[in-house]
Amino acid sequence: MTTTPLELNHLIDGDWVTGSGDTARSIDPARPSEVVATYTTATTAELDGALRAAEAARGAWDRAGVLARGRVLRTAAALLEERAERIAVLMSREEGKILSDARGEIGGAIETLYYHAGAARRPTGVTYPSASSDEVVRSVRRPVGVVGVVTPWNFPLQIPVWKIAPALMWGNTVVWKTASDTPAVAVALAEVFVDAGVPGGVVNLLLGPGSLGGELVADPRVAAVTFTGSVPVGHRIREAVIGRGARLQMELGGHNPAVVLPDADIPAAADFITAAAMSSTGQKCTATRRVIAVGSAYEPIKEALAQRVGALRVGAGLEDGVEIGPLVSARARDEVAGAIDRAVQQGAAVVAQADLPDGDGAYVAPTLLEGDASLSIAREEVFGPVTLLMRAPDVDAAIDLANATDFGLTASVFTRDQSVVRRCLDEVEAGLIKINGPTTGSEVHAPFGGLKQSSFPGPREQGSDQVADFFSVLKTAYVRAVPNDAERTREQHD
Ligand code: NDP
Repeated sequence: MTTTPLELNHLIDGDWVTGSGDTARSIDPARPSEVVATYTTATTAELDGALRAAEAARGAWDRAGVLARGRVLRTAAALLEERAERIAVLMSREEGKILSDARGEIGGAIETLYYHAGAARRPTGVTYPSASSDEVVRSVRRPVGVVGVVTPWNFPLQIPVWKIAPALMWGNTVVWKTASDTPAVAVALAEVFVDAGVPGGVVNLLLGPGSLGGELVADPRVAAVTFTGSVPVGHRIREAVIGRGARLQMELGGHNPAVVLPDADIPAAADFITAAAMSSTGQKCTATRRVIAVGSAYEPIKEALAQRVGALRVGAGLEDGVEIGPLVSARARDEVAGAIDRAVQQGAAVVAQADLPDGDGAYVAPTLLEGDASLSIAREEVFGPVTLLMRAPDVDAAIDLANATDFGLTASVFTRDQSVVRRCLDEVEAGLIKINGPTTGSEVHAPFGGLKQSSFPGPREQGSDQVADFFSVLKTAYVRAVPNDAERTREQHD
C-alpha cells in the first residue's frame, strides 16, 4: 500500500507556514521506499518569528486564567481521543513502533493532558504566619515566560505532551523543535492544540535540524528549556542554557540494570525483563540494558530469557501479531547492528536471537548477549533490542555492577527478600527503581528522572510539585492592608 506523502508546515503565531530552509522528509522504516511526509525546514527566520509570536502571546495567555487554560487542555485530550486511531497508524508508519505501542503512547498522552488540566482546580501557593496582624504573607506562582521544548523521536507524542501540557497550564508559551525523524506526528499533535483553542503564538512548532534546536536553546528570549534526548546533545544544551542563566530540565540516556536474585519468581522476572528490554524495539531510555543474575539465578533466568527473546515476532508495526517493529531508521539499524558485532568481537556470546523478516526494513534481531563488565556494551547505551546478561556472585557484587555506568535512570530488582529490597532501594544509583517490575513505565503523577549522567540535577518531569517548580516562578508576597479614610476615622473614634 503506497500513500501520498503528507506536506507539512510549521506552526507560527497560529498560522501554518512554509519553511525557508532545505527540503526534508520522513520515511517508513519498515518500507524505506515509502515517504511519509515532506517539508521545508525552518531556519533562523522562522525561529525568530516563532519566538516573537511566543513573546507577544504571553500576556493574554496569562490573563486568560488557569481555569480557561485547563478547559483548553481538557478539549485537547478529548480531541486526541477522537483522533487516536488515525494518529496511532501515522506514528507506526513514521517511527516504526507496533500499533499497540502507538495506541499505548497516545493513551498516556491523553491521561497526561487530563492530569495537568486538573491542576486548574488544585490549590497553589502557601500562606505563612506574619509578625503583623494586618499583613498576609503568601507565595504566588507566576509563569516563567517562553519555554523552549526540544524532543526526541522515540516517544514523538508523549514526551512533547509531558512538557507542553504543564508549560501551558502554568501560563507559559512554547516554541517546540521536534525530532527530524517524526515531524508528521508532531504536526498532528500541534493540530490538536490549535483545534482545542490554544490561541495563536501560545504553541509554535518548528521542523528542522538539530542545529535549529541549538539556536532555540541559546536564544535569550527563551526563559526555560526542557529537553529529552542523548547525553552528548544534552551536554551541549546545558552549556548554552546554564551559561546564560536560564532554567533547564533534561532527561537523557540510560543503561538500566535488572538484578535477579535466586529467590525471584523467575518466569515473571523473565516476562518483565523481555518486555522492558525489547518492546519499542529497545528504543526506550528506560529499557533494560543489563541483566545481573546473582549466584544460582544465572542458569534459570538465562534459559527463561533465551526462550522468550528467541520467540519474539519481528516485522512491520502495522502487521497483525508483530511484537517488535523496525528501528527508527537505517542509520539507527547500522549503529545497533555494529554495536552487537563489536560486543561479539570483544568476547560476548549470543545466547538467543529472534528471526528477522525479509525485505529492506530497518530491522535488527532482538538479541540476548552474555558477557562481563569489560565489554563496552556493558557501559555504553545501545539504543536498540539488545540486552547483556552478566553474573554476580552475591548482592554486594550485583549492586556494584548495577552502579558501574555513568548513567542512573531506572533499575529493577527481582526478589522476595525484604532486606535485599531495602539495600537496593538505598544503594542502587537510579532515579526510578522498581521491585519485581520492569525498568520501563511510569505514572504521570509521580516524579520521573534519573541520577548521574541521565538527568540534569533540577526539577524533574511529571509529578505536580516538580512541574510547578520548573514551569513557574515563585514569588513571596507581603500584603499589608492600609485602612481607607472612613476606616481611619472610625479607628480614631474607637
Ligand atoms: P538526540 O539527542 O540526538 O535528539 C533529541 C532532540 O535534540 C532532537 O529533536 C534533535 O533534533 C535535537 N538536537 C540534536 N542536536 C541538537 C543540538 N545541538 N542542540 C539542540 N537540539 C539538538 O536524541 P535522539 O533523538 O537520538 O533520542 C534518543 C536519545 O534520547 C537516547 O539517548 C535516549 O536514551 C534518550 N531519551 C531519554 C529519555 C528520558 O526520559 N531520559 C526518554 C527518551 C529518550 P534532530 O532530530 O533534528 O537531530
